[in-house]
Amino acid sequence: MAKIAFIGLGNMGLPMAANLVKHGHEVRGVDLSEANLKAAAQRGIVKSKSAADAAMGADVIMTMLPAGKDTVAIYGKSGILEVAAKGTLLIDCSTIDVTSARTAHDLAAKAGMLSVDSPVSGGVGGAEAATLTLMVGGTDAAFEKARPYLACVGKKVVHCGDAGGGQAAKICNNMILGISMLGVSEAFVLAEKLGLSHQALYDVASTSSGQCWALTSYCPVPGPVPASPANNDYKPGFASALMLKDLKLAQEAAAASGATTPLGALAAQMFAMHNAQGSAGADFSSIIKMLRGK
Ligand code: NAD
Repeated sequence: MAKIAFIGLGNMGLPMAANLVKHGHEVRGVDLSEANLKAAAQRGIVKSKSAADAAMGADVIMTMLPAGKDTVAIYGKSGILEVAAKGTLLIDCSTIDVTSARTAHDLAAKAGMLSVDSPVSGGVGGAEAATLTLMVGGTDAAFEKARPYLACVGKKVVHCGDAGGGQAAKICNNMILGISMLGVSEAFVLAEKLGLSHQALYDVASTSSGQCWALTSYCPVPGPVPASPANNDYKPGFASALMLKDLKLAQEAAAASGATTPLGALAAQMFAMHNAQGSAGADFSSIIKMLRGK
């Protein structure tokens, strides 16, 4: 069994680290929040006093942090690359911009480490149930070494390409999701104006060419999909703030690469407006309320 340093024990990182413990790994955890460290201790994660402390003697260093600057700071300034043995595997599961992901890979390679970027999809529920999808960027050797650890936290592990490939896959997927949720929500708003019931639109669209995940898993109106956040006053789920974060990352990547993504740009603007109206903490399907003008 491996010694794993896990840095970032938040909503996602804590259950992921706990699943590594369930598979028999020795997990040493680091977080800025004492409350998170206490919760982690209850799930078998041993508290370390710093990232470098956790990295010493570790076989694997995993990170699950808010943004690119956090991952780059941990790789660059925290001392983990100085204290870890050459050949240690670094797995960054945070959702971050492609440029920062590549910077993190470069720092790891220069220090003689193996690294993958491996953002996840599936939310807190998927992290608890170890059913996440993991999108992995890195060399074949790093991917093969990372695969057994990723299999402890998720059920689907896809090698998407070289450094940054996982982040690229994640932001492309979430751009589809943001745009498709807007499309589904607009269709329900139009149906309401036309006197068509939610259930009738759902029954048709879910078995027709309008079918998509935003409709059949996160249906933005209560009723047709009982488990969707719309049935629970839009409690996340997947917060609007996180959707906006991912849409902004997609726009940054589009600008840097010269891709034309007008619907992605519009979706980012609309979620920014929705968040500014006080809905950042609500599930992203609550965008339907803004479309209704309420
Ligand atoms: P979170 O804010 O709950 O957790 C991040 C944790 O990192 C916090 O506990 C924070 O204290 C810790 N942290 C920050 N800087 C640190 C440092 N220097 N050293 C140690 N700990 C540090 O966020 P989350 O919801 O767990 O999301 C983590 C990542 O996963 C983000 O990149 C997010 O975009 C991505 N993600 C989240 C979800 C979701 O549904 N929450 C889904 C998919 C992907």
